[in-house]
Amino acid sequence: MKAIMGKPVILTGLRANNDLHIGNYLGALLPIVDMARSRVDDYHINLFVPDLHSFTTPIDHGQLQDAIMQNLRVFAAAGLPLDHDDVYVYRQSYVPAHSELTWILDCFTGMGEMQRMTQFKDRIAQLEAERVSVGLFNYPVLMAADILLYGAQYVPVGEDQTQHLEFTRDIAERLNKKFGDLFTVPEPARKQHEFFGKDQGLRIRDLQNPARKMSKSEESGKGIIFLTDSPAEAGQKIMAAETDSLSEVQYDYESRPGVTNLLDILKLLGGTPNEFIGQAKYGLLKKAVADRVGEFLQTFQKQLAAVDDNQITRKLENSERQMNEVANDRLLKVQKAVGLRP
Ligand code: ATP
Ligand code: MG
Repeated sequence: MKAIMGKPVILTGLRANNDLHIGNYLGALLPIVDMARSRVDDYHINLFVPDLHSFTTPIDHGQLQDAIMQNLRVFAAAGLPLDHDDVYVYRQSYVPAHSELTWILDCFTGMGEMQRMTQFKDRIAQLEAERVSVGLFNYPVLMAADILLYGAQYVPVGEDQTQHLEFTRDIAERLNKKFGDLFTVPEPARKQHEFFGKDQGLRIRDLQNPARKMSKSEESGKGIIFLTDSPAEAGQKIMAAETDSLSEVQYDYESRPGVTNLLDILKLLGGTPNEFIGQAKYGLLKKAVADRVGEFLQTFQKQLAAVDDNQITRKLENSERQMNEVANDRLLKVQKAVGLRP
């Protein structure tokens, strides 16, 4: 078996969602694709679709298959090297060891540990009680299983996931101590940041409410540029973007978050924001951003339409076969250690 031997493993996942926006693209997808392309010679890249994480809060289940496929198409369109043998693309639920290991880890996890997770506390504060599932509560354990099954050392995580990474390290060390070396302990957050560099903090703001980040769950959608928007739709949203009344283009997240956001978008899409600094009128900047975003959307949507679904399906089937071998090996070690197997 060739998979996952020798090279260290980088593992990352992106939750399936139909309505990705340019914030997701610039802040998550593109960095993952760039990382995969630049690191694949020295690392195994595990890019998995966390489908079991998709309904920790209620979703439309009839849409899930489409959402998963669409998500993968977007990755392919963004340039993920599907033809590379050391890039593995797999759906979590097609590797049942994720669920089995989660149960075992659950039994070594304290209620208090999960209750302390700040993301969980934040989420339950926002949700009606009947929407808070046990799955939402213990999804960090599933996340630990996702990482530990493959011995992944590097897991690019944002600020909101740091605590879950720490938990993964804790539970790995706990079981290693009790049962001998079962798991590779992933690197701590500080090392992850060193390894992946500093672009992880990128946050595109909502065009209508630049105090907040662009989020696909925002209701009106007026401040969100979706990857499926036509250039005209996106252009309208950008021309209507909320700015400020200071009447001079300057970088300043504090007093000019709207304008700064536009400058960021322009820069990230390869434009030249500096020529607008100091200008008294925001209209020209908006126009330049609208044009640049329009060109980007047009190109991207063309690439998306050209994606070969069969190539994605073949990749999934290959990777899932290989990842089942890797994950089952690790699971068997754990099952033996806890007395489930002779
Ligand atoms: P939701 O409203 O459902 O939370 P979201 O738009 O915040 O949706 P997530 O699914 O939470 O998207 O995040 C997917 C990835 O996109 C994460 O890696 C996250 O860090 C990144 N991301 C989300 N919003 C932005 C943004 N505005 N700018 C940059 N990156 C973002
Ligand atoms: Mg979010």
